[in-house]
Amino acid sequence: PQPHDTDAPIRLTDNDAALAKLSAVRQNYLSDPYIKYFVPRATFQPVRPPLINIGTFVRTVAIDDLVNQWLDLSSAEGKKCQIVSLGAGSDTRFWQLATGLRKDCLSKYIEVDFPENTMKKAMAIKKNKDLSTVLGAPADIKLGHGGTSLFSPLYYLLPADLRQNPTLSLSSLITRNGDAPPLLDASLPTLLIFECVLVYMSPQESNTLLRWFHTYFASQNDGRLGAIVYEMFGLGDSFGRVMVSNLRTRNVSLPGADPYPNVESLPSRFLNLDYTSAHALTLKDIRRDYIGADELDRISKLEMLDEVEELDLVLEHYAITWGLTVSGKHGAAWNEW
Ligand code: SAM
Repeated sequence: PQPHDTDAPIRLTDNDAALAKLSAVRQNYLSDPYIKYFVPRATFQPVRPPLINIGTFVRTVAIDDLVNQWLDLSSAEGKKCQIVSLGAGSDTRFWQLATGLRKDCLSKYIEVDFPENTMKKAMAIKKNKDLSTVLGAPADIKLGHGGTSLFSPLYYLLPADLRQNPTLSLSSLITRNGDAPPLLDASLPTLLIFECVLVYMSPQESNTLLRWFHTYFASQNDGRLGAIVYEMFGLGDSFGRVMVSNLRTRNVSLPGADPYPNVESLPSRFLNLDYTSAHALTLKDIRRDYIGADELDRISKLEMLDEVEELDLVLEHYAITWGLTVSGKHGAAWNEW
């Protein structure tokens, strides 16, 4: 990192996310054959405490479920759908989807992160056959922008700073480049994923981004746009303050950490920007009400959990919020999401 590179600690949060995922996979909470390829010396990495593994499990299956529902809604309309993951880091959801039951439903999967992180990911993909064969034949996989971007028929990796004006930094998504059409087809159902990323941006910067996508898909194109946000919230209480100060000791700047005091306030993130509907659930609620009894039973046997009381305290400070923009023409089915 550069001497005064204040973004370096933000980029490094991806290592934590990937290590947490790897740990949950090694302890059999989740199955993910791809994450190990994004973690250097994966077999030597320590596993995380049970509490972290459970949190990673709940968050991952909940987002997977929302994504799968989105793909099914698209299929029901006879359309493929496109997904954009913002601040994707080492996320492997693309590989899981592209090799999974709903693979034919995907028209495009685009990931965006800082150029340092996209370059690392592009290199990992190029180096590893299990990753690259999912993208297509070697001739179909092209690197660009000094190795910081990667293009293939289905999967795109783009460098950008999400705090900058999206009209400049993300222009290739929605504007024609010479003969090439924009990457995103405004007529297709489109899903945005912000998994643990908006906390690193100011509320104004996240609003600009969410509004920019909303304008393209809703106001201009009569489209269907969904967005999933996973984040910490309610940080004003004593437990929340400990969580934030732990992160701050690592010099991670968190300009987006404060605006939502409780779970009821989370949907306003979308509703204030004229999305047609929005919902939020804490990880505590999701674990209690939405994970099947069999799964809960299975994971309860994986490890001894000493911190039972702390578990709910942690899980109630994390939430998944999802918002939808859909025009009347597209029918009520989408409002079930
Ligand atoms: N979404 C992934 C996941 O859940 O596994 C990674 C989460 S990691 C905690 C946060 C990621 O967001 C990092 O890869 C970081 O580089 C990226 N990020 C944060 N702020 C960003 C910005 N302004 N522009 C681009 N990427 C950003």
